[in-house]
Amino acid sequence: MAKNPTYGFDTLQIHAGARPDPATGARQTPIYQSTAFVFRDADHAAALFNLQEVGYIYSRLTNPTIAVLQERLATLEGGAGAVCCSSGHAAQLMALFPLMSPGKNVVVSTRLYGGTVTQFSQTIKRFGWSAKFIDFDDTDAVKAAIDDDTRAVFCEAIANPGGYITDLTAISKISDEAGLPLIVDNTSATPYLCRPIEFGATLVVHSTTKYLTGNGTVTGGCVIDSGKFDWSASDKFPSLSAPEPAYHGLKFHETFGELAFTFHGIAIGLRDLGMTMNPQAAHYTLMGIETLSLRMQRHVENAVTLANWLEQHEAIDSVTYAGLKSSPYYKRAKKICPIGSGALFTIAIKGGYKACIKFVDSLEIFSHVANLGDSRSLVIHSASTTHRQLEKEQQIAAGAGPEIVRISVGIEDANDLIADLDQALKKSQSIKL
Ligand SMILES: *Cc1c(COP(=O)(O)O)cnc(C)c1O
Repeated sequence: MAKNPTYGFDTLQIHAGARPDPATGARQTPIYQSTAFVFRDADHAAALFNLQEVGYIYSRLTNPTIAVLQERLATLEGGAGAVCCSSGHAAQLMALFPLMSPGKNVVVSTRLYGGTVTQFSQTIKRFGWSAKFIDFDDTDAVKAAIDDDTRAVFCEAIANPGGYITDLTAISKISDEAGLPLIVDNTSATPYLCRPIEFGATLVVHSTTKYLTGNGTVTGGCVIDSGKFDWSASDKFPSLSAPEPAYHGLKFHETFGELAFTFHGIAIGLRDLGMTMNPQAAHYTLMGIETLSLRMQRHVENAVTLANWLEQHEAIDSVTYAGLKSSPYYKRAKKICPIGSGALFTIAIKGGYKACIKFVDSLEIFSHVANLGDSRSLVIHSASTTHRQLEKEQQIAAGAGPEIVRISVGIEDANDLIADLDQALKKSQSIKL
Protein backbone atom coordinates (compact mmCIF):
# COMPACT_ATOMS: atom_id res chain seq x y z
CA MET A 1 0.00 0.00 0.00
CA ALA A 2 1.28 3.43 -0.88
CA LYS A 3 2.07 5.50 2.19
CA ASN A 4 -0.89 7.71 2.90
CA PRO A 5 -0.75 9.54 6.21
CA THR A 6 -4.49 10.22 6.15
CA TYR A 7 -5.50 6.56 6.43
CA GLY A 8 -7.02 5.68 9.79
CA PHE A 9 -5.74 3.09 12.24
CA ASP A 10 -8.31 0.46 11.17
CA THR A 11 -7.13 0.70 7.57
CA LEU A 12 -3.43 0.73 8.41
CA GLN A 13 -3.63 -2.29 10.74
CA ILE A 14 -4.77 -4.34 7.73
CA HIS A 15 -2.80 -2.77 4.88
CA ALA A 16 0.36 -1.03 6.09
CA GLY A 17 3.50 -2.68 4.74
CA ALA A 18 1.60 -5.23 2.64
CA ARG A 19 1.10 -5.34 -1.10
CA PRO A 20 -0.02 -8.12 -3.43
CA ASP A 21 2.87 -10.56 -3.82
CA PRO A 22 4.90 -9.40 -6.86
CA ALA A 23 5.52 -13.00 -8.02
CA THR A 24 2.02 -14.48 -7.68
CA GLY A 25 -0.43 -11.70 -6.84
CA ALA A 26 -1.22 -13.45 -3.55
CA ARG A 27 -3.40 -11.03 -1.58
CA GLN A 28 -2.46 -12.28 1.89
CA THR A 29 1.22 -11.83 2.75
CA PRO A 30 2.94 -15.14 1.94
CA ILE A 31 5.10 -16.90 4.52
CA TYR A 32 8.49 -16.67 2.82
CA GLN A 33 9.83 -19.83 4.37
CA SER A 34 13.29 -19.48 2.88
CA THR A 35 16.63 -19.15 4.65
CA ALA A 36 18.46 -17.48 1.76
CA PHE A 37 17.70 -15.35 -1.30
CA VAL A 38 19.47 -15.63 -4.66
CA PHE A 39 21.62 -12.68 -5.74
CA ARG A 40 20.92 -11.30 -9.23
CA ASP A 41 24.68 -11.27 -9.83
CA ALA A 42 27.94 -10.66 -7.97
CA ASP A 43 27.55 -6.86 -8.12
CA HIS A 44 24.10 -7.14 -6.52
CA ALA A 45 25.57 -9.31 -3.76
CA ALA A 46 28.37 -6.81 -3.15
CA ALA A 47 25.92 -3.89 -2.96
CA LEU A 48 23.76 -5.77 -0.44
CA PHE A 49 26.71 -6.68 1.75
CA ASN A 50 28.01 -3.08 1.64
CA LEU A 51 24.55 -1.82 2.74
CA GLN A 52 24.43 0.21 -0.50
CA GLU A 53 21.25 -1.51 -1.58
CA VAL A 54 18.40 -2.81 0.54
CA GLY A 55 17.34 -6.38 -0.17
CA TYR A 56 17.26 -9.92 1.08
CA ILE A 57 20.38 -11.96 1.80
CA TYR A 58 19.71 -14.38 4.62
CA SER A 59 16.76 -14.68 7.02
CA ARG A 60 18.81 -14.07 10.16
CA LEU A 61 18.92 -10.45 8.95
CA THR A 62 15.93 -9.85 6.70
CA ASN A 63 12.97 -11.79 5.35
CA PRO A 64 10.06 -10.50 3.22
CA THR A 65 7.30 -11.69 5.61
CA ILE A 66 9.04 -10.10 8.58
CA ALA A 67 9.67 -6.93 6.56
CA VAL A 68 5.90 -6.48 6.15
CA LEU A 69 5.39 -6.80 9.92
CA GLN A 70 8.22 -4.33 10.55
CA GLU A 71 6.68 -1.75 8.24
CA ARG A 72 3.22 -2.30 9.72
CA LEU A 73 4.42 -1.81 13.29
CA ALA A 74 6.53 1.23 12.37
CA THR A 75 3.45 2.74 10.70
CA LEU A 76 1.05 2.00 13.57
CA GLU A 77 3.47 3.46 16.13
CA GLY A 78 4.30 6.47 13.95
CA GLY A 79 7.99 5.52 13.74
CA ALA A 80 10.58 5.73 10.96
CA GLY A 81 11.53 2.04 11.04
CA ALA A 82 11.29 -1.16 13.03
CA VAL A 83 13.24 -4.33 13.68
CA CYS A 84 11.45 -7.51 14.71
CA CYS A 85 13.11 -10.13 16.85
CA SER A 86 12.44 -13.40 18.61
CA SER A 87 10.70 -12.18 21.79
CA GLY A 88 9.88 -9.13 23.84
CA HIS A 89 12.95 -9.69 25.97
CA ALA A 90 15.07 -9.92 22.83
CA ALA A 91 13.60 -6.57 21.75
CA GLN A 92 14.69 -4.98 25.03
CA LEU A 93 18.27 -6.18 24.52
CA MET A 94 18.17 -5.11 20.87
CA ALA A 95 17.04 -1.63 21.96
CA LEU A 96 19.80 -1.26 24.56
CA PHE A 97 22.62 -2.93 22.65
CA PRO A 98 23.62 -0.01 20.35
CA LEU A 99 23.41 2.45 23.24
CA MET A 100 25.27 0.65 26.00
CA SER A 101 28.81 -0.52 26.73
CA PRO A 102 30.54 -1.78 29.88
CA GLY A 103 30.16 0.66 32.77
CA LYS A 104 27.07 2.36 31.33
CA ASN A 105 23.65 2.38 32.98
CA VAL A 106 19.99 2.76 32.14
CA VAL A 107 17.50 4.55 34.41
CA VAL A 108 14.36 2.41 34.63
CA SER A 109 10.97 2.51 36.31
CA THR A 110 10.31 0.23 39.29
CA ARG A 111 6.97 -0.64 37.69
CA LEU A 112 7.92 -3.20 35.06
CA TYR A 113 7.04 -6.68 33.86
CA GLY A 114 8.63 -9.17 36.32
CA GLY A 115 10.87 -10.73 33.68
CA THR A 116 12.16 -7.29 32.74
CA VAL A 117 13.05 -6.55 36.36
CA THR A 118 15.12 -9.75 36.41
CA GLN A 119 16.71 -9.02 33.01
CA PHE A 120 17.69 -5.52 34.12
CA SER A 121 18.66 -6.21 37.74
CA GLN A 122 20.59 -9.43 37.12
CA THR A 123 21.35 -10.55 33.58
CA ILE A 124 22.56 -7.33 31.97
CA LYS A 125 25.31 -7.14 34.61
CA ARG A 126 27.06 -9.88 32.62
CA PHE A 127 27.58 -7.30 29.87
CA GLY A 128 28.90 -4.77 32.38
CA TRP A 129 25.66 -2.76 32.11
CA SER A 130 23.50 -1.77 35.04
CA ALA A 131 20.02 -0.43 35.74
CA LYS A 132 18.92 2.10 38.34
CA PHE A 133 15.34 1.41 39.49
CA ILE A 134 13.43 4.60 40.25
CA ASP A 135 9.82 5.52 41.10
CA PHE A 136 8.87 7.32 37.86
CA ASP A 137 6.17 9.33 39.65
CA ASP A 138 9.06 11.05 41.45
CA THR A 139 10.41 13.09 38.55
CA ASP A 140 13.10 14.70 40.72
CA ALA A 141 14.40 11.24 41.56
CA VAL A 142 14.47 10.32 37.86
CA LYS A 143 16.48 13.48 37.11
CA ALA A 144 18.83 12.84 40.02
CA ALA A 145 19.46 9.24 38.92
CA ILE A 146 20.79 10.29 35.52
CA ASP A 147 24.59 10.57 35.52
CA ASP A 148 27.40 10.83 32.93
CA ASP A 149 27.26 7.08 32.32
CA THR A 150 23.50 6.91 31.72
CA ARG A 151 22.66 6.00 28.14
CA ALA A 152 18.87 5.55 28.20
CA VAL A 153 15.67 5.91 30.22
CA PHE A 154 13.23 2.98 30.17
CA CYS A 155 9.60 2.55 31.25
CA GLU A 156 6.28 0.94 30.26
CA ALA A 157 3.39 3.12 29.04
CA ILE A 158 0.76 1.11 30.93
CA ALA A 159 2.88 -0.78 33.41
CA ASN A 160 2.53 -4.47 33.96
CA PRO A 161 0.96 -5.70 36.21
CA GLY A 162 -0.53 -2.89 38.23
CA GLY A 163 -2.64 -0.63 36.00
CA TYR A 164 -0.09 2.13 36.46
CA ILE A 165 0.16 4.82 33.77
CA THR A 166 3.50 6.53 33.16
CA ASP A 167 3.45 10.29 32.62
CA LEU A 168 5.31 9.97 29.32
CA THR A 169 5.24 13.74 28.72
CA ALA A 170 7.07 14.44 31.99
CA ILE A 171 9.57 11.60 31.53
CA SER A 172 10.41 12.48 27.91
CA LYS A 173 11.04 16.08 28.98
CA ILE A 174 13.64 14.78 31.44
CA SER A 175 15.32 12.46 28.93
CA ASP A 176 15.34 15.24 26.31
CA GLU A 177 17.01 17.66 28.68
CA ALA A 178 19.63 15.04 29.49
CA GLY A 179 20.20 14.28 25.77
CA LEU A 180 19.18 10.66 26.27
CA PRO A 181 16.82 8.38 24.36
CA LEU A 182 13.58 7.34 26.08
CA ILE A 183 12.63 3.69 25.49
CA VAL A 184 8.98 2.83 26.14
CA ASP A 185 7.67 -0.73 26.39
CA ASN A 186 4.21 -0.38 24.85
CA THR A 187 3.18 -4.03 25.14
CA SER A 188 0.24 -3.55 27.51
CA ALA A 189 -1.19 -0.52 25.73
CA THR A 190 -0.56 -1.41 22.05
CA PRO A 191 -0.38 1.42 19.50
CA TYR A 192 -4.19 1.44 19.39
CA LEU A 193 -4.43 2.81 22.93
CA CYS A 194 -1.16 4.74 23.16
CA ARG A 195 1.51 5.94 20.74
CA PRO A 196 4.53 6.79 22.93
CA ILE A 197 6.39 8.53 20.08
CA GLU A 198 3.68 11.22 20.14
CA PHE A 199 4.66 11.85 23.78
CA GLY A 200 8.38 12.09 22.98
CA ALA A 201 9.60 8.48 23.13
CA THR A 202 12.70 7.72 21.04
CA LEU A 203 12.25 3.96 20.81
CA VAL A 204 9.19 1.78 21.41
CA VAL A 205 9.61 -1.89 22.27
CA HIS A 206 6.97 -4.60 22.14
CA SER A 207 6.41 -8.13 23.14
CA THR A 208 4.36 -9.00 20.05
CA THR A 209 3.60 -12.23 21.93
CA LYS A 210 0.75 -10.41 23.69
CA TYR A 211 -2.06 -8.23 22.27
CA LEU A 212 -0.48 -7.67 18.86
CA THR A 213 -0.65 -11.38 18.02
CA GLY A 214 -3.57 -11.70 20.40
CA ASN A 215 -4.17 -15.41 20.28
CA GLY A 216 -1.39 -16.89 22.39
CA THR A 217 0.36 -18.68 19.54
CA VAL A 218 3.86 -17.27 19.00
CA THR A 219 6.52 -15.26 20.80
CA GLY A 220 8.01 -12.22 19.17
CA GLY A 221 9.31 -8.74 19.77
CA CYS A 222 9.90 -5.49 17.98
CA VAL A 223 11.90 -2.27 18.37
CA ILE A 224 10.39 0.75 16.62
CA ASP A 225 12.55 3.83 16.16
CA SER A 226 10.97 7.28 16.04
CA GLY A 227 13.84 8.40 13.80
CA LYS A 228 13.92 11.66 15.76
CA PHE A 229 16.91 11.27 18.06
CA ASP A 230 20.16 13.04 17.11
CA TRP A 231 22.71 10.28 17.75
CA SER A 232 25.54 12.63 16.72
CA ALA A 233 24.70 15.45 19.14
CA SER A 234 27.11 14.01 21.72
CA ASP A 235 29.87 11.40 21.77
CA LYS A 236 27.67 9.11 23.89
CA PHE A 237 26.46 6.85 21.08
CA PRO A 238 29.54 5.86 19.04
CA SER A 239 27.85 2.71 17.66
CA LEU A 240 25.55 5.02 15.70
CA SER A 241 27.68 8.14 15.20
CA ALA A 242 31.29 6.90 14.85
CA PRO A 243 32.88 4.84 12.03
CA GLU A 244 31.88 1.13 12.17
CA PRO A 245 34.92 -1.08 11.54
CA ALA A 246 32.79 -4.06 10.43
CA TYR A 247 31.44 -1.96 7.51
CA HIS A 248 34.64 -0.22 6.30
CA GLY A 249 34.19 2.75 8.61
CA LEU A 250 30.58 3.49 7.65
CA LYS A 251 28.83 5.86 10.05
CA PHE A 252 25.25 4.69 10.57
CA HIS A 253 23.77 8.04 11.54
CA GLU A 254 25.51 10.01 8.80
CA THR A 255 24.66 7.40 6.14
CA PHE A 256 21.10 6.37 7.09
CA GLY A 257 19.77 9.45 8.89
CA GLU A 258 16.46 8.72 10.58
CA LEU A 259 16.87 5.02 9.76
CA ALA A 260 20.25 4.74 11.52
CA PHE A 261 18.95 2.78 14.51
CA THR A 262 16.89 0.44 12.31
CA PHE A 263 19.79 -0.33 9.96
CA HIS A 264 22.11 -0.86 12.91
CA GLY A 265 19.55 -3.21 14.46
CA ILE A 266 19.55 -5.37 11.36
CA ALA A 267 23.12 -5.05 10.10
CA ILE A 268 24.79 -5.42 13.50
CA GLY A 269 22.13 -6.48 16.03
CA LEU A 270 20.43 -9.32 14.18
CA ARG A 271 23.58 -10.22 12.25
CA ASP A 272 25.67 -10.76 15.38
CA LEU A 273 23.23 -11.38 18.22
CA GLY A 274 20.96 -13.55 16.08
CA MET A 275 17.71 -12.98 18.02
CA THR A 276 15.71 -13.27 14.83
CA MET A 277 11.95 -13.64 14.44
CA ASN A 278 10.91 -16.50 12.17
CA PRO A 279 8.52 -16.00 9.22
CA GLN A 280 5.82 -18.26 10.72
CA ALA A 281 5.70 -16.09 13.83
CA ALA A 282 5.52 -12.95 11.68
CA HIS A 283 2.58 -14.49 9.82
CA TYR A 284 0.59 -15.19 13.00
CA THR A 285 1.33 -11.71 14.29
CA LEU A 286 0.31 -10.06 11.01
CA MET A 287 -2.98 -11.96 11.16
CA GLY A 288 -3.50 -10.82 14.74
CA ILE A 289 -2.79 -7.16 14.03
CA GLU A 290 -5.54 -7.09 11.37
CA THR A 291 -8.12 -7.11 14.21
CA LEU A 292 -6.14 -5.21 16.85
CA SER A 293 -8.47 -2.22 17.21
CA LEU A 294 -11.59 -4.40 17.38
CA ARG A 295 -10.08 -6.64 20.01
CA MET A 296 -8.71 -3.76 22.07
CA GLN A 297 -12.12 -2.08 22.11
CA ARG A 298 -13.68 -5.23 23.56
CA HIS A 299 -10.74 -5.85 25.92
CA VAL A 300 -11.20 -2.34 27.33
CA GLU A 301 -15.01 -2.59 27.52
CA ASN A 302 -14.80 -5.90 29.40
CA ALA A 303 -12.02 -4.61 31.67
CA VAL A 304 -14.11 -1.58 32.68
CA THR A 305 -17.13 -3.80 33.39
CA LEU A 306 -15.17 -6.34 35.41
CA ALA A 307 -13.11 -3.79 37.35
CA ASN A 308 -16.24 -1.89 38.40
CA TRP A 309 -17.93 -5.11 39.46
CA LEU A 310 -14.87 -6.39 41.33
CA GLU A 311 -14.41 -3.10 43.17
CA GLN A 312 -17.83 -3.67 44.83
CA HIS A 313 -17.18 -7.33 45.71
CA GLU A 314 -16.95 -8.21 49.39
CA ALA A 315 -13.94 -10.53 48.87
CA ILE A 316 -11.91 -7.75 47.25
CA ASP A 317 -9.81 -5.16 49.07
CA SER A 318 -8.78 -3.15 46.04
CA VAL A 319 -8.63 -3.05 42.24
CA THR A 320 -5.80 -1.20 40.46
CA TYR A 321 -7.35 -0.32 37.13
CA ALA A 322 -6.57 3.13 35.76
CA GLY A 323 -9.96 3.10 34.04
CA LEU A 324 -11.72 3.26 37.44
CA LYS A 325 -12.69 6.69 38.71
CA SER A 326 -11.18 5.72 42.08
CA SER A 327 -7.72 5.16 40.51
CA PRO A 328 -5.02 7.75 41.22
CA TYR A 329 -4.06 7.34 37.54
CA TYR A 330 -7.55 7.95 36.11
CA LYS A 331 -6.76 11.54 35.06
CA ARG A 332 -3.35 10.67 33.66
CA ALA A 333 -4.89 7.82 31.67
CA LYS A 334 -7.24 10.30 29.98
CA LYS A 335 -4.14 12.10 28.69
CA ILE A 336 -1.83 9.18 27.82
CA CYS A 337 -4.35 6.57 26.64
CA PRO A 338 -7.69 8.35 26.18
CA ILE A 339 -9.42 5.47 24.36
CA GLY A 340 -8.91 3.14 27.31
CA SER A 341 -6.53 2.05 30.03
CA GLY A 342 -5.87 -1.43 28.68
CA ALA A 343 -7.23 -4.67 30.05
CA LEU A 344 -4.66 -5.59 32.61
CA PHE A 345 -5.01 -4.91 36.32
CA THR A 346 -4.56 -6.45 39.69
CA ILE A 347 -6.95 -7.25 42.52
CA ALA A 348 -6.12 -7.61 46.19
CA ILE A 349 -8.06 -10.54 47.64
CA LYS A 350 -9.06 -10.70 51.30
CA GLY A 351 -7.22 -13.58 52.97
CA GLY A 352 -3.87 -13.02 51.24
CA TYR A 353 -1.62 -15.67 49.74
CA LYS A 354 -3.78 -18.74 50.53
CA ALA A 355 -7.02 -17.15 49.36
CA CYS A 356 -5.30 -16.17 46.10
CA ILE A 357 -4.12 -19.74 45.50
CA LYS A 358 -7.65 -21.05 46.11
CA PHE A 359 -9.06 -18.39 43.79
CA VAL A 360 -6.76 -19.14 40.83
CA ASP A 361 -7.27 -22.90 41.29
CA SER A 362 -11.08 -22.49 41.28
CA LEU A 363 -11.49 -20.50 38.06
CA GLU A 364 -13.04 -22.25 35.07
CA ILE A 365 -12.99 -19.81 32.13
CA PHE A 366 -9.94 -17.87 33.27
CA SER A 367 -6.70 -19.83 32.88
CA HIS A 368 -3.85 -19.57 35.36
CA VAL A 369 -0.92 -18.94 33.01
CA ALA A 370 2.21 -16.82 32.66
CA ASN A 371 0.87 -14.82 29.75
CA LEU A 372 -1.29 -11.80 29.09
CA GLY A 373 -2.92 -10.04 26.20
CA ASP A 374 -4.66 -13.14 24.85
CA SER A 375 -8.22 -13.15 23.49
CA ARG A 376 -9.02 -15.53 26.37
CA SER A 377 -9.09 -14.28 29.95
CA LEU A 378 -6.07 -15.11 32.04
CA VAL A 379 -4.96 -14.72 35.64
CA ILE A 380 -1.71 -15.15 37.44
CA HIS A 381 -0.74 -15.07 41.07
CA SER A 382 2.49 -13.16 40.49
CA ALA A 383 4.04 -13.66 43.93
CA SER A 384 4.12 -17.46 43.52
CA THR A 385 5.07 -17.40 39.81
CA THR A 386 6.45 -14.56 37.63
CA HIS A 387 7.64 -12.43 40.52
CA ARG A 388 8.82 -15.39 42.63
CA GLN A 389 12.51 -14.64 42.02
CA LEU A 390 12.16 -11.09 43.34
CA GLU A 391 12.71 -9.92 46.89
CA LYS A 392 9.49 -9.14 48.77
CA GLU A 393 10.16 -5.37 48.58
CA GLN A 394 10.69 -5.69 44.82
CA GLN A 395 7.42 -7.65 44.56
CA ILE A 396 5.53 -4.95 46.41
CA ALA A 397 7.23 -2.15 44.44
CA ALA A 398 6.21 -3.94 41.23
CA GLY A 399 2.60 -4.22 42.44
CA ALA A 400 2.85 -7.98 42.93
CA GLY A 401 2.55 -8.61 46.68
CA PRO A 402 1.26 -11.96 48.11
CA GLU A 403 -2.43 -10.89 48.19
CA ILE A 404 -2.37 -9.72 44.57
CA VAL A 405 -3.72 -11.52 41.49
CA ARG A 406 -3.17 -10.09 38.02
CA ILE A 407 -6.07 -10.28 35.61
CA SER A 408 -5.76 -10.07 31.84
CA VAL A 409 -9.31 -9.56 30.65
CA GLY A 410 -10.17 -11.36 27.43
CA ILE A 411 -12.86 -10.73 24.86
CA GLU A 412 -15.39 -13.36 25.97
CA ASP A 413 -18.93 -12.51 27.22
CA ALA A 414 -18.57 -10.22 30.22
CA ASN A 415 -21.45 -11.97 32.05
CA ASP A 416 -19.70 -15.32 31.83
CA LEU A 417 -16.47 -13.81 33.13
CA ILE A 418 -18.27 -12.19 36.06
CA ALA A 419 -19.99 -15.47 37.00
CA ASP A 420 -16.65 -17.28 36.91
CA LEU A 421 -14.91 -14.67 39.07
CA ASP A 422 -17.83 -14.72 41.51
CA GLN A 423 -17.80 -18.46 42.13
CA ALA A 424 -13.98 -18.53 42.52
CA LEU A 425 -13.96 -15.53 44.88
CA LYS A 426 -16.61 -17.23 47.04
CA LYS A 427 -14.45 -20.37 47.23
CA SER A 428 -11.39 -18.25 48.08
CA GLN A 429 -13.17 -16.93 51.16
CA SER A 430 -14.46 -20.31 52.35
CA ILE A 431 -11.05 -21.73 53.17
CA LYS A 432 -9.62 -21.69 56.67
CA LEU A 433 -7.09 -18.91 56.75
C1 LIG B 1 5.63 -10.34 28.07
C2 LIG B 1 6.26 -9.04 28.26
C3 LIG B 1 7.62 -8.83 27.98
C4 LIG B 1 8.52 -9.95 27.53
O1 LIG B 1 8.10 -10.42 26.29
P1 LIG B 1 8.38 -11.93 25.77
O2 LIG B 1 7.78 -11.95 24.42
O3 LIG B 1 7.72 -12.86 26.74
O4 LIG B 1 9.88 -12.09 25.79
C5 LIG B 1 8.14 -7.58 28.16
N1 LIG B 1 7.38 -6.56 28.59
C6 LIG B 1 6.07 -6.71 28.86
C7 LIG B 1 5.28 -5.55 29.32
C8 LIG B 1 5.47 -7.95 28.70
O5 LIG B 1 4.17 -8.10 28.98
